[in-house]
Amino acid sequence: MKPKNRYFCIGCQRPKMLFETKSKADNFLKFNEKDFYKSAKGAPVRSYFCSFCGGWHISSISSLPSIISANERADLLLQNLTGSLVEEVDDRDSIEYKEFNKLYGHLITLNSRIRVLITATEYGYAGRLMKKSQLLINEMLRHTLSCGIKDERQRNIEKVFAQLDSFLWLLVKFQNNPDIPEETLEVMFQNHKSGYYRKAIRNLKNKILFLRIMSDLSQSETASEREALILQAESIIKTGFRGGGCSNLRKWAKALLSGYSDFSCS
Ligand SMILES: [Zn+2]
Repeated sequence: MKPKNRYFCIGCQRPKMLFETKSKADNFLKFNEKDFYKSAKGAPVRSYFCSFCGGWHISSISSLPSIISANERADLLLQNLTGSLVEEVDDRDSIEYKEFNKLYGHLITLNSRIRVLITATEYGYAGRLMKKSQLLINEMLRHTLSCGIKDERQRNIEKVFAQLDSFLWLLVKFQNNPDIPEETLEVMFQNHKSGYYRKAIRNLKNKILFLRIMSDLSQSETASEREALILQAESIIKTGFRGGGCSNLRKWAKALLSGYSDFSCS
């Protein structure tokens, strides 16, 4: 790999490759991945916007503490060279902010998808999207650190995801231990009182109840007992699952019950 477009970067105090856009830098990373691995040590792994050069560099530094200390060094250097402090980016039309807004937009979308999956009790899928979100949050953090962006939306979205993540964790805990007594649940979910949280908890409670009814149904001995259990199950399907994404939950319950309904009719 012989890069042609090298520019002397004031921030890094050495020549660096410079790309006009993030996608160009990312493409370069992607297509030269194999060559990077051959050279093993210090292979570039991410792109970042350089406020000094007004474009994108690639870097092998990816851990947040290393980025912070690299930025501190760069800021200090610029301060020594120009005698002035490095200013924070506050131009909302700048490339730095556009990139931040893009990441922020992705996170908002992911957040609403995760919320829907949680009300539908699809915790595995929600957990996978949660991991993806964490990667994006870290990318956003690396970006804002690299560019000197200070925007309160970043801290807010981190908080929103942290709350949702702890809620998801508790729901999974409850699902795995469905016999947790009501008083313990009250304490477990004491920080999750809003309408959305209550709806999601109620859906899980009804799912657990539904599975209990199915289990009773499989052991029931009289036709009248079965009939009563089927009525209970049908009422849960009708009114027990609320919120976006619950149609799958209802389908799942209907399919389970239909097995038993046939059995009871025979
Ligand atoms: Zn630079």
